[in-house]
Amino acid sequence: MIKMKKIVASILSLMLLQSGIVLAKPVKKEGNGMTRADICKKNYETLFKSKWDPGVGNDPEMMEMLQKYIFGEVFVTGNLDMKTREMITVTSLSVQQALPQLEGHLNGALNAGASPLELREAIYLCAPFIGFPKTLNALGVLNKVLASRNIPTPLAKAGTVNENERFVKGSEIQTPLYGDEIAREMEGLPDNLGADAARFLTEFCFGDIYTRGVLDTKTRELLAVCILTTTGNMDVLKSHISGAMKAGNSPETIASAIIQCMPYVGFPNALEALRTLKNVMGEDKVTVDFKQPFKLGEVNPYSKYFTGTTYLNMLCQKDDVWNSSIGNVTFEKGARTNWHKHSGGQILLVTAGEGRYQEKGKEIRILKPGDVVKIPPNVEHWHGAAPDSTFAHISIETNIPNNATTWLEPVSNKEYK
Ligand code: MN
Repeated sequence: MIKMKKIVASILSLMLLQSGIVLAKPVKKEGNGMTRADICKKNYETLFKSKWDPGVGNDPEMMEMLQKYIFGEVFVTGNLDMKTREMITVTSLSVQQALPQLEGHLNGALNAGASPLELREAIYLCAPFIGFPKTLNALGVLNKVLASRNIPTPLAKAGTVNENERFVKGSEIQTPLYGDEIAREMEGLPDNLGADAARFLTEFCFGDIYTRGVLDTKTRELLAVCILTTTGNMDVLKSHISGAMKAGNSPETIASAIIQCMPYVGFPNALEALRTLKNVMGEDKVTVDFKQPFKLGEVNPYSKYFTGTTYLNMLCQKDDVWNSSIGNVTFEKGARTNWHKHSGGQILLVTAGEGRYQEKGKEIRILKPGDVVKIPPNVEHWHGAAPDSTFAHISIETNIPNNATTWLEPVSNKEYK
């Protein structure tokens, strides 16, 4: 009987080999012969500065399961350092209002090297996503932890914008990452109240919060992904995954951050967030694979003079030898420059996609690869992508070095077709 089973098993494995089917095996990541209990003990004692004893408390069985899973496995999955993991955990627990656990992990984060200012910023960042009351509760716990460590509060201020520049400074962060998608979605509400909603978002979320010091936009966007993984707002998460990548986070880092949230938010939200990441990566591939001869380059550093997301790859910097300035500019669907003029003129060579060009008072011109646009000095104009096509052109600044660009107002949705 046993012999028979063996024969059947070997026939089966032979059939599997021949048909090319490979059975998935769980991957174990226990380096240096360490068990997950060993890894858990090491991480737990680093974070909480106390001896790991799985046998204590009223529910030792649950505590042992969760601690081995979190500190013994999740903590060694992905490419994040311990400080980032704890910042993520603090953010997710703040969103959930899991305040006793938040207290423990604020201490853990401080022990892992996060500064009090960084932790305050992680919690402030929650306010635009979950509102003020819950944010204040989480801040209360932070201030209690700081007091227990004899750290004086209130902490030093970290705001950077004054009352008159909240909108402009907020737009400078929001536009390159998100374009004007919210303003467009909010059009058509009674009394144009949607415009106020969109303005509040720009002024408060991006103007008051994202401009603050201590954390850069890249880190804020990674934490925003964790906030939305926790709340489960998957449509908003989709936008922010895309924003997080544009701000410089790799898909691997974003996946690692979502997995870090997994034990705190449960599998349904975390797996849905990972599916959303996969979808965004598929869509962004269209942009990256968009067939153009020159490389995409970086998110355009002049984005504040553009609507939507654009990229710039300088092919020839202004210099004394060639006296020329040439750049490859790529526009996502619907993206365009503001109205502007060049005192020395400009030549555009269209390389890919379908675009638009318009001089003030004239008809919009449709651009296709191979088109050449000669823009005379001081003629007011704009250029950009068609509403449904990515677009790229080479920009040549002519008559330099005395060619200055004057940037004017954005091209409105009414003007843009
Ligand atoms: Mn131009």
